[in-house]
Amino acid sequence: MPNNVPVTTRFAPSPNGRLHLGHAFSAIIAHDLARQNGGRFVLRIEDIDGPRSRPELADEFRRDLEWLGLEWHEVPAQSTRIERYAAAAATLKASGLLYPCTCTRTQIADAGAGQGPDGMIYPGTCKPGSCKTRAPDPARAAAWRLDAARAAEVTGPLVWNDDLAGPQTVNLAGLGDVVLVRKNLPASYHLAVTLDDAEDGVTVVTRGADLFAASHVHRMLQALLGLPAPRWHHHPLLNDANGEKLAKRRGSPALAQRREAGEDGLMLAAQLRLQHLRLGT
Ligand code: GLU
Ligand code: ZN
Repeated sequence: MPNNVPVTTRFAPSPNGRLHLGHAFSAIIAHDLARQNGGRFVLRIEDIDGPRSRPELADEFRRDLEWLGLEWHEVPAQSTRIERYAAAAATLKASGLLYPCTCTRTQIADAGAGQGPDGMIYPGTCKPGSCKTRAPDPARAAAWRLDAARAAEVTGPLVWNDDLAGPQTVNLAGLGDVVLVRKNLPASYHLAVTLDDAEDGVTVVTRGADLFAASHVHRMLQALLGLPAPRWHHHPLLNDANGEKLAKRRGSPALAQRREAGEDGLMLAAQLRLQHLRLGT
């Protein structure tokens, strides 16, 4: 990335659940990193989760960010970018580095899949030439997976840089052959987010450490698609008073509930900034 490109960070929430404290923390870190460098903070709504996506939540997110005192530049939501995803999916398929897979989750589990940082590691059942080969079921819609071993041969060794963890050598072994094209959509999270970050001019990918492993895939996709490599800034996840990770699933109130109850958003943002300082990240 050339030096004269202004720092651009992003917050990319999915409208399939309300925002919580962890999201506020993430958004503030990204926002402040851009502001401190005279750069741009981008909001992107990641709304391609089909029936799980609730469009009305996007408005709530904007009100939440405003309540926290953040200013942002909003870029088009993912649902408006499907044609671009399809074009990239076609390029990748033409490269011969993807293969179709019709395995169900149960079949993958039954095939003895190992557990990676991001769920089950696909055991390669549908991979052409694999000893586990079973041809994809023609009666079922196929997802397309990246043949990670072949992709690594094509790109050669790749490195990516995390602000906190330092240089990382791309290694897809922990993730396996991830899905890049879903059964009913020309992209998966990995493909969409990589294309979008490039299109939006993101120079520092800011997100929680829970998505650290995914960056190996994203760096690989950048190399395969000729996209620029940004920096990454995976921040630690906030813990609650019991030391447990703050996740949507647990009962912590949504930002919107706190906002509607009259809590001061600027005060909350100040507390989160203090916590960030304490973590020293
Ligand atoms: N949309 C994703 C989520 O809400 C975040 C994507 C990212 O930061 O890369 O979990
Ligand atoms: Zn399969």
